[in-house]
Amino acid sequence: MTELEQRRRTVQTALAGHKIDALLVSSPANIRYLTGYAGSNGLALVTPSETHFFTDPRYALEASATITCKLHIAKRPLIEEVAGIVKRKKLKKIGVEPAWLNLDQHQKLKDLLPLGASLKPLPGIVDTLRMTKSQAEIDHIRKSVRVNSEAYARTLRRVRLGMKERDIAAELDYQMRLHGAEKPAFDTIVAAGARTALPHAQPTDKRLEENDLLLIDMGACLDGYMSDMTRMAFLGPPTKRVKTLYDAVLEAQMAAIEAVKPGVTAARVDGAAREVLKRRGLDRQFVHSTGHGLGLEIHESPRIGKKDHTKLTAGMVITIEPGAYIDSFGGVRIEDTVLVTPNGCEILTPTTKEFVHL
Ligand code: ZN
Ligand code: ZN
Repeated sequence: MTELEQRRRTVQTALAGHKIDALLVSSPANIRYLTGYAGSNGLALVTPSETHFFTDPRYALEASATITCKLHIAKRPLIEEVAGIVKRKKLKKIGVEPAWLNLDQHQKLKDLLPLGASLKPLPGIVDTLRMTKSQAEIDHIRKSVRVNSEAYARTLRRVRLGMKERDIAAELDYQMRLHGAEKPAFDTIVAAGARTALPHAQPTDKRLEENDLLLIDMGACLDGYMSDMTRMAFLGPPTKRVKTLYDAVLEAQMAAIEAVKPGVTAARVDGAAREVLKRRGLDRQFVHSTGHGLGLEIHESPRIGKKDHTKLTAGMVITIEPGAYIDSFGGVRIEDTVLVTPNGCEILTPTTKEFVHL
């Protein structure tokens, strides 16, 4: 059995437990996870005995060569084709993904359902499976992480005073693709000076000046799998205040990484970072969660935050990225991609966390 078939089998056997006759999968990442399809127009319907995949004629050639479940090339809206199968197979209770089935499709499907059939919102069935990565998935992520770090290293050598944030972002994206990435995993973040206090700054025309902090948050997408890393640099010899801030965040990041092992909750890992920053009087400057799962999507379950009590298991891949942001001064974030192993964790990101001075 291939890995895709295994995943479908797992979902198929889980349906009864959720008291549904079928699950309609609308999330593009979940569809890719179950069928391998990476295009822009697809739906999957998983029943206890089989998986149906629906797409339009633009993808007919590609799909017939790669899809190993029941393939339907629909000349009408996919949701109508789905309703046809529901009717033909006499399915009654259909689970849907509330975060991904849009209101149009939901309404249309409801209108077309045979008498006695109904829809049941069921978030997270496939997403939960995706939390634990297979060996093949871990290998993809390792490759993505390597390419990302390579692009960062090559770009950092070119960074000079007077360069714009925007130019640095363009170089990072170029180097990423040059070394094998399909695309950036998200819009590359480059922020300099006081703009580093914005956790999700988009690159602007601001030029690098003497004594600027520089924050780069970047990820690659390779074979569909994401990586994510944040590193800081300083233009000149760092001031005491900047160094203190950097050391505090680094200590928090290392404490969180130290806490990562199977059986520990995501909230506990978040707490480990938060406690360090609290001791340093910076807890109120840490305005986001400590990290997130990643894989086919840049943000997946679990969320490494206060409220997520998911227990970590070997094979999960998460980021650890505490930060502290001081308005009109600047911010520091340090982020690694980390694999949960049977005994603890492995930091996949190879890039040094020494505070770089340019
Ligand atoms: Zn990031
Ligand atoms: Zn991240």
